[in-house]
Amino acid sequence: MERKKFDLRIDAKLLLKRNEHFQNFVEPYSFENRTTYIDYKDLPVIKYKIFDDYDNLITGFSTRLGGVSKAHLSSLNLSFSRGDEESNVIENHKRFAKAVGYDYTRLIFSDQVHDTRIRVIENEEDAGKGMIKVSDIKETDGLVTNLANIPIMTFYADCVPLYFFDKEKNVIGLAHSGWKGTVKNIAGKMIETMMDKYNSDVKDIICAIGPSICQKCYEVDDVVINEIKDRYSSNEYAMMVEEKPDGKYQLNLQLACRINLLNAGVLPSNIAMPDLCTCCNKNILYSHRASKGMRGNLAAVMMLKG
Ligand SMILES: [Zn+2]
Repeated sequence: MERKKFDLRIDAKLLLKRNEHFQNFVEPYSFENRTTYIDYKDLPVIKYKIFDDYDNLITGFSTRLGGVSKAHLSSLNLSFSRGDEESNVIENHKRFAKAVGYDYTRLIFSDQVHDTRIRVIENEEDAGKGMIKVSDIKETDGLVTNLANIPIMTFYADCVPLYFFDKEKNVIGLAHSGWKGTVKNIAGKMIETMMDKYNSDVKDIICAIGPSICQKCYEVDDVVINEIKDRYSSNEYAMMVEEKPDGKYQLNLQLACRINLLNAGVLPSNIAMPDLCTCCNKNILYSHRASKGMRGNLAAVMMLKG
């Protein structure tokens, strides 16, 4: 499998100085070689080139820049469950929504529990659940909908964000795939859900794998590796795991997610790999590893325009 080499670090000072639209954030690597770029309106939003052709689709991934939260949560923490003041989180949501282009009061999200429960959003009344309404969407790591003007969101700080878009049937989905969700194959279950519920043809589904922990930063032990071994073929295992002399392992969770998508039938050319590591970029992105748990949450968002 051919993978381009990227410099996975961003210079925070450089990024903050830039205000150009559609600016690439790392040099000397050319824009052509990257899968993401920064769209900078009021604050930086990470965008995926693979989704650029679709005018009816809004997507984005937050950085930790441009918000009001303090100390280890500084500054754009988008999660109510990280010990932040509620008013800070709401202000951060307002700013991020404005930059991306959706109404934050209609935002839907769930708690995430590293499992594979997926919620299909079918009712207009669900708009705002989690944000301005009490949510009955619980213990859910995947969201799917074909409703327009309802933004869906999932949260991250090293785990792998998965974006799904059926360009023919106009269905969107987001899934949170940490190592447990990856072993349990939430990626494949998202594809199945889109096929069952909306009659999606897997060949029409475009996927992006978002900023998350890279193999170099992701050391794991036997507990994780034994599950990976059980789940994947020996060839797949060899591609995603580096065994080290000290008995530890470096796991490529991003590649494991790509393999899950390929095994579900997604076309290789329809999958954008991440070119950013959360842990390599702890000044720009929240990383659970890099901060030893003292961190806010980043967010992935998607919405169909009406
Ligand atoms: Zn890294």
